[in-house]
Amino acid sequence: MSFSRWLAAGAAVMMFTCGSAFAGDGFKLAITVDDLTVHGGLPPGTTRKQVADNFLNAFKAHGVTEAWGFINGKSLKDDPSSYSVLESWRAAGHPLGNHGFTHMNASQNTVAAFEGDIEGNEPILKDLMGDKDWHWLRFPFLNAGTDASHGEIMQYVKDKGYKVADVTVSFNDWAYTDAYARCAAKGDTAAVATLRQKYMSDVVASVKRARGLSQKIYGRDIPHVLLIHIGAFTGEMLPQVLSAFEAEGVEYVTLEQAESDPAYDFSGPKAAQGSMLERVAQEKGINIYDGTIASLNDVGPIMGMCQ
Ligand SMILES: [Zn+2]
Repeated sequence: MSFSRWLAAGAAVMMFTCGSAFAGDGFKLAITVDDLTVHGGLPPGTTRKQVADNFLNAFKAHGVTEAWGFINGKSLKDDPSSYSVLESWRAAGHPLGNHGFTHMNASQNTVAAFEGDIEGNEPILKDLMGDKDWHWLRFPFLNAGTDASHGEIMQYVKDKGYKVADVTVSFNDWAYTDAYARCAAKGDTAAVATLRQKYMSDVVASVKRARGLSQKIYGRDIPHVLLIHIGAFTGEMLPQVLSAFEAEGVEYVTLEQAESDPAYDFSGPKAAQGSMLERVAQEKGINIYDGTIASLNDVGPIMGMCQ
């Protein structure tokens, strides 16, 4: 064996023994949580405050020092008691950003209406964030407008001083929220066990998928941004989720740190539309359906459970 081949073999063994099949900087992850203060149904006897506390306790126990909470102010009108979610979030030191007052779909409304929806949240953010910067935007439905409106919307976002919180890791946690509330209400422990098993398999697959896509597109591990929602099921599962990330060797980073990587370049024609890695693969004409990229469970059967 030549010296260079010996070195290469050694490097492969090193990577293997470090528990990672991926070359690069390792698994860096920023955490973001959408739909504060209300996401989906609750199982019996659970409050929004308890759900938020589950998130905050898990973050604390697992050394997550920054998790952006993206808010829909209208939830406070619908359920004023849920204001405690935002107070708890801030008291734990985590920041709040903008997810549209009513969670408006940019493609299904006028640009003026969409801008109004962004601005509807701003008094709440100013009040709760004080002198801290809250100018991060997560597009509702990850929808950044139609081909006709996208340019105008992105210009507006930039002019208002917002940075866009893109997404690279998601395990469709939203699809489990109402199913869990129904299965728990029925006392169907077998169904809940099935949900837990599927959920954790999606968590593991989502990390493999994001890291695999990163290698395929960029030839390296880019820092990732996780999207989860403030639902009761995710709150209960979060300690296990974070442990699964830790088994992958995660290093938690801030959203600013993750998106300072050049991979998060918002100049593309579909910038901020959908999930970033799938979008960039499509733009670059990279085939991600060649069987090498991990995929998640279909959401249909999950959403249909305990109906
Ligand atoms: Zn949302």
